[in-house]
Amino acid sequence: MGGKLLIVGFGPGSVDHMTKRAREAIEESDVIIGYKTYIELVRDLIAGKEIISTGMTEEVSRAQAAVKWAERGKTVAVISSGDAGLYGMAGLVYEVLIEKGWTKDDPIEVEVIPGISAIHSCAALLGAPIMHDACTISLSDHLTPWELIEKRLEAAAAADFVIALYNPKSGRRTRQIVEAQRILLRHRSPETPVGLVKSAYRERQQIVLTDLAHMLDHEIGMLTTVIIGNSTTFVHDGLMITPRGYQRKYHLTAAVQPLKPHERLRKEAEPWALEQTKPLNGGPVLEPTSEPETERPRVSLPSASLPLSASSAPLPAAARQAKESGSAIPPVQTEGNRPMAAKEVAEDALAALTHRSMRPVPVLFEAAVSPGVANKQFTPEQLIVLAEVVGPDGKMTYTPDHYMKIERLTEDPAGLTARLVAAGLTVMPVGEVLTVKACDFCDGEKKDAIPYAEELARRLGGMTLPKELKLGVNGCGMACYGAVREDIGIVYRKGKFDLFLGGKTVGRNAHPGQLVAEGIPKEEIITVIADIIEYYKEHGHPNERFHKFFARVKQIGPFRHEEATAAAAVETAACGD
Ligand code: SF4
Repeated sequence: MGGKLLIVGFGPGSVDHMTKRAREAIEESDVIIGYKTYIELVRDLIAGKEIISTGMTEEVSRAQAAVKWAERGKTVAVISSGDAGLYGMAGLVYEVLIEKGWTKDDPIEVEVIPGISAIHSCAALLGAPIMHDACTISLSDHLTPWELIEKRLEAAAAADFVIALYNPKSGRRTRQIVEAQRILLRHRSPETPVGLVKSAYRERQQIVLTDLAHMLDHEIGMLTTVIIGNSTTFVHDGLMITPRGYQRKYHLTAAVQPLKPHERLRKEAEPWALEQTKPLNGGPVLEPTSEPETERPRVSLPSASLPLSASSAPLPAAARQAKESGSAIPPVQTEGNRPMAAKEVAEDALAALTHRSMRPVPVLFEAAVSPGVANKQFTPEQLIVLAEVVGPDGKMTYTPDHYMKIERLTEDPAGLTARLVAAGLTVMPVGEVLTVKACDFCDGEKKDAIPYAEELARRLGGMTLPKELKLGVNGCGMACYGAVREDIGIVYRKGKFDLFLGGKTVGRNAHPGQLVAEGIPKEEIITVIADIIEYYKEHGHPNERFHKFFARVKQIGPFRHEEATAAAAVETAACGD
C-alpha cells in the first residue's frame, strides 16, 4: 500500500500568497508535518488533521516521519514556508526516500508543490531588484562549511549577481553577515543599494532600504532576507530597481525607436554580444563598422581585483547619460580602454569556480570516541592519536556519557575514522542515536556481563532513533554507574538481568526507570532489548523521548507501563516559623 507525499511550499505566510494547488494539497492530506512556526501559519487550514510539528533543526526526523506515514498509505503534506525546493524540505524528503530504495515506480507518489520564495516576495516589496541574473546564498554554516559559503559569496560578488542572502544572522551566528559584507565590499561600491526585508507579507513585516556600507547599522535577524543589488541597481523614490538592459538599446520614453525591428538583430546593435567579443574558433573579433573602437559602448562592471570607488557610480548615471544624449545605443560607462570588463569578470569567476569544483569539499566530522564499552582507560598513545585527529582547529569535549566528542572540518572523514579505529578506539555517531553506557565492571573484575554490553553496542550502538537514547548496562546489583536512571537500564544480578524502562536522568522530574522485569535469562537479553528498540524506532514520534513514549503507548511487548504515584502536596511552614 502506498500513500502520497505532498511537499508543499506555502509562500511567505499569508493565505493570499499561497497557490491554489498548495491549499488543495493541504486540504486533501491526512497528516500535516512541519516546523512549529509553519504549522501556526496554516493553522486555519488544518483543523481535524493529524499534525506532527517539531522544532527547528529537526528536518530529518520530519522527513522520516513523513515517509513512514506515506508507507502506511496516508496522504502526507510536508509543509515549508517559501518554496519547498529552495532551502525547503523537497530535497531532504527525496533523499530519505532514496536511502530506502524508492524509485518513481514505487507505490508512494511524490508531488512537489512550488511556492513563492523569500527572494521573490521580498523583491516585490522592495521594487524590482532582481530583474537581472540573481542568486541565493544561505549564510547558515550549520550544514555547509563556512569556507564554501565564503567562496560562493566571492564568486557571486565578482560575477555581479544580485544576491539574496538567506539565514543572514541568528542569536548565535552573528559574524557571518559581517564577513559577507566585508567580501562584498571588495567587489562592489559601498553605495550599492541593499534591501532588508523582515517577515514579508506577515504581521510584523519591516522593509529597510540602505546601502552596502550601512547595512549592518540596521536590525538583521533570523527572519530577514538581505537583497544586495548589482553594479547597476539604483534607488528611486524608495524603490530598489535593477535595469534589465533595455536602456542600452532603446529610448525608454520615445514612441518611435531609432532602431527598426530588423536592426535589433544586427551585430551593430549589440556590440557587447558574445560573438563580437569572443569568436568561436579564436579568430579575430568582429568590429562593428558603424562606430570606431574608442566610441563603442561598453558595459562597465567592477574588476574582480579592484574595489569600486564611490565615484564609479553604476547604471543610474549611465541611464541618465543615455537619456540626455538621446543616443539609441547610449554610451554606457567605460573603464579606461579595458574591453568588456563584465565578460572578463564573468570569465574569471567561471575559471575560478571550475578550478574550485575539482577540489574535495570539507565536511563537519563529528564522532563519539571511547576506549571501549567497558574499558574507561585511554592509553597515552590513544590520546596522542586523538589530539592529532582533532588537530589545531577541531574541538574535543569529554561528556558525561563516557566518551570524547570530537568535531572538526575535514575532507577525509573516512581516513580519520580509520586512524581512530587502528588505535583501538571505538568510534560511534552522535546525535539522535542509541548510546550504550556501561559501567567499568569493577575494572574488569566482575566481567560476566561484559560480552552482553559489547554485543548490544555492536548491534544497536549508533542506531538512529526518534530521539537520542541511552542504554545503561551495569555489572552487579550495586548499579553504581546509574543504569536504572537511563532511558533503558539493565542490571546483571545472580546470572540474570533486571530490566528498567523509562528512566530520566536530569530535570526536576528526574526519576529512575520502572522495574518491569527481574531475572531475564542472559541468553535472552539481547533479543528483549532489540525488540524494545525496534518498537520505539517504528512507533515513536519524531523527537519523542523514550520515557514519554513508554507512558504514551502503555505497553511494549510484555512490559506494561505503570503511572508513578503523584507527589504528595505538603504544607510547609515558612522558614523560621
Ligand atoms: S555496577 Fe557493579 S560491576 Fe559495575 S562498576 Fe559498579 S560495582 Fe562494579
